[in-house]
Amino acid sequence: MSASQILTQTPLGLYCPGGDFHIDPMRPVPRALVTHGHSDHARAGHGAVMATAETLDIMALRYGEDFTGSRQVAALGAWTTLGDVRVRFHPAGHVLGSAQIEIVQAGFHLVVSGDYKRAGDPTCLAFTPVRCHAFITEATFGLPVFRHPDAADEIGKLLASRSLFPERTHILGAYALGKAQRLMALLRAAGYDRPIYIHGALEKLTAYYGRRGVALGETPKVVAAERPKLGGEIVICPPGAIKDLWARKFPDPVTAAASGWMRVRARARQKGVELPLIVSDHADWEALCTTVVETGCEELWVTHGEAEALVHWAGTQGIAAKPLHLIGYGEETEDELLDAA
Ligand SMILES: [Zn+2]
Ligand SMILES: [Zn+2]
Repeated sequence: MSASQILTQTPLGLYCPGGDFHIDPMRPVPRALVTHGHSDHARAGHGAVMATAETLDIMALRYGEDFTGSRQVAALGAWTTLGDVRVRFHPAGHVLGSAQIEIVQAGFHLVVSGDYKRAGDPTCLAFTPVRCHAFITEATFGLPVFRHPDAADEIGKLLASRSLFPERTHILGAYALGKAQRLMALLRAAGYDRPIYIHGALEKLTAYYGRRGVALGETPKVVAAERPKLGGEIVICPPGAIKDLWARKFPDPVTAAASGWMRVRARARQKGVELPLIVSDHADWEALCTTVVETGCEELWVTHGEAEALVHWAGTQGIAAKPLHLIGYGEETEDELLDAA
């Protein structure tokens, strides 16, 4: 057996003929297995969707209750038979509900990672390495230059800036699913106990995290008329909003953004970010390499991101590796400023 007998590459994404399903397909298909709720992976209009309960809830919040013909909850760690294969979901540590998908056929284990990270995140379950013959990984930050700093230190920079400029509003751009809530949790862990104000676009997902037991403290929605009174406060909004007219009504705002891409200074400047914070929900180079080793895989496919360096490195480890260059994933990081990264 080999990976290519279990999964094939199609224009819609990865397809499993044995189980007759796609994983994170680009367009509507009869049956989709979805790793997590980010819009580049979770799309509306499939005949059936199998995903964790949280991912199904998040898709319903974003697309409406009729986002799919039918839903099947994947309980973490529980086997489900689909046609000639068995599948099982494992935590991916990326955002609430994010999962890796393990597929087994004729004793051959293959794991599709989806997006993942190894750094601590109190808002979701930690990534669990799964032993497998073939590992299908992302590589958003797959270059040795990418080494994410400790997120707590980055939050320290935000709090230091707030102490330095106590009259100014700090406006922090962050993706609405996952990153925003992780930043809130990091602020609370750092002892910040003021209300954390949020843009309306973050309201539904932040409330959902609260309902799932993720304690984020007081997170009031910004009332438009109150903006001039929010000097000294921290406001979290979608990445695109830090440059909007919306943001200019706050007192002398400091624009901040949290993303793995903030490592690249030119990108921060280009996006009008005064205070770049390197906080990523993806594995950095070292975490990618560590994870590949921990899976014990003999075959490695790299779905998207900086595939070439990781493929080369895997070759030096005696692992048969290839880049897939799947298109359509990670595009939010380019188009909507710092989304998801
Ligand atoms: Zn993602
Ligand atoms: Zn992604």
